[in-house]
Amino acid sequence: MMAPQARDPETTHAAQDPATGHPRPPRREFKARGSFVERCDGCRLPVLNCLCPYRVSTTSEAEVWLLTHPLEHNKPTNTGRLIADVLPQTQVFDWHRTAPDAGLLALLADRRYVPFVIFPDDQPDYQHRVVDERAVVGVKQDGFIPVFILLDGTWRQARRIFRKSPYLDGLPVLPLHTDRLTRYRLRKPASASHLCTAEVAAELLRKTGDGVAADVLDDYFDAFNESYAASRFYHKIDKPSAPMQRLLDRRMAGSAHLVDPRG
Ligand SMILES: [Zn+2]
Repeated sequence: MMAPQARDPETTHAAQDPATGHPRPPRREFKARGSFVERCDGCRLPVLNCLCPYRVSTTSEAEVWLLTHPLEHNKPTNTGRLIADVLPQTQVFDWHRTAPDAGLLALLADRRYVPFVIFPDDQPDYQHRVVDERAVVGVKQDGFIPVFILLDGTWRQARRIFRKSPYLDGLPVLPLHTDRLTRYRLRKPASASHLCTAEVAAELLRKTGDGVAADVLDDYFDAFNESYAASRFYHKIDKPSAPMQRLLDRRMAGSAHLVDPRG
């Protein structure tokens, strides 16, 4: 479902303008700094603290579909992809204003799923569509699969996706109300109450009965944060943190089930 990866802006050497061949300065400092970092093909983090050893997949009753802004898709600091690592049934769609993704439209028409658009309830014009977590639990009790549609981008991008996607207009809107403050260290949020995409998914899963999936995603997010932040200071993590150790333990327990008792 993922689109072919375009060139990673943090690893692309921007020494020359491809159109003119003229030298050009890096547009932003973080690109210049990231340009010299060797990245893992598996997790796209700097190889110094690769995330791959901690990757654990699990299951959940509710599913996640990511509607990802194209400018967000290729950023190694994007956390939406962490959800897809932990919950393999996650669907990822590139958002385009003019052409809705055919795969997404097909899923929206599939009666097995009941999708909710995750968005704040702070504007008056769609209050009639706003529901709370009890609606998600009710969907499960009725034998359907609830789906969290996460608008994956900056705050401005998410608002644009919400407003410019007519195929979302008929869906219930589920706001996330939580006291949790963000633990994301890789970008500076406008406010500590602005959670990143993986954190939003973890909170929604926890509030609607998928506690194990929420715990695994939270630990994987913490491992991502710690690994990436350390690599920015060229620091090699030599002792796994508590979340990392829990993920390693889960992997050990998971592989133990795969051992054939007959030898
Ligand atoms: Zn890796």
